[in-house]
Amino acid sequence: MPETPPALPSFTAWPTFPFDGELNVKYLEEPVEVEPPRHGENPADCRACQAPDEAYVWVSDRWRVRSLDRPTGLPMVLILESRSHLDLGDLPNMLAAELGVMTVRLERAVRSLSGVARVHINRWGDGSAHLHVWFLARPYGRLQLRGTFLSLWDEILPPIEEAQWRENLALVAAWLEGFGGRALAEPPRIDWQAPAQFPAASDDGGAVEGGLDHAVAAKDPAEEGMAGEAAKDADHGSPAQSGTEEAAPAERPSNSDDAGLVQTEDSAHNLGPAAVSADAPDVASVEAGALRQEAGSG
Ligand SMILES: [Zn+2]
Repeated sequence: MPETPPALPSFTAWPTFPFDGELNVKYLEEPVEVEPPRHGENPADCRACQAPDEAYVWVSDRWRVRSLDRPTGLPMVLILESRSHLDLGDLPNMLAAELGVMTVRLERAVRSLSGVARVHINRWGDGSAHLHVWFLARPYGRLQLRGTFLSLWDEILPPIEEAQWRENLALVAAWLEGFGGRALAEPPRIDWQAPAQFPAASDDGGAVEGGLDHAVAAKDPAEEGMAGEAAKDADHGSPAQSGTEEAAPAERPSNSDDAGLVQTEDSAHNLGPAAVSADAPDVASVEAGALRQEAGSG
């Protein structure tokens, strides 16, 4: 153990770094010989596997999207999970290809929300064994929230209004349902507008909607703490240009939009919208089950 702690890294001086004042770097502990099991290494104990569809915002045969259980500081935080108990590296080709499609689709859906500038996508996997990919919406105009520390800011900022949060969830769920699967998030009000009237993100003047004047609510420490601690994103927020392909769709997504994205991956499996409809044969689950048995682990 060194006698003096190491010098502060340069990122503590970045404008996006959330903390101020005197800081010390923690001493690095010795590595453990054997790492403890993550939550759900055994599928029988896996919370994701046991959670009913009703706990999710949107579900399909092979994918499910959930939110945290309450609003947090960012306009939207969503988690994409495979329905099968698999980790990222376990995905068979078909699910791996679909993960790409689902990632792009969900990114578009979240970015279409009013006041969202960017969607950060993170997969850590240090806390839970079951694949879960984070989608964190960075509010428009909040340059200080760009990049690496967004997941920390999510816990620092006061939570957004619950009504706004629920409306955002319903909009994203409806967007996803436009491609198949089933939306489960309910809109908060009876006068909720149909997805045909989705506001384009570019139409939004800028500032974050929803209050920034409420008390901070704690999130699931198991998930969030892990997400925060494991953050290693080297991208600290260069202001990227928004290309035409990034423009948020102004209308409900058309299914044709999606067709052909990954069809070359495996033409035997239709990865267009039908692939996530309830009618599609659940080939991936079978494939995944076989793979899991082969691997002999969770
Ligand atoms: Zn699981």
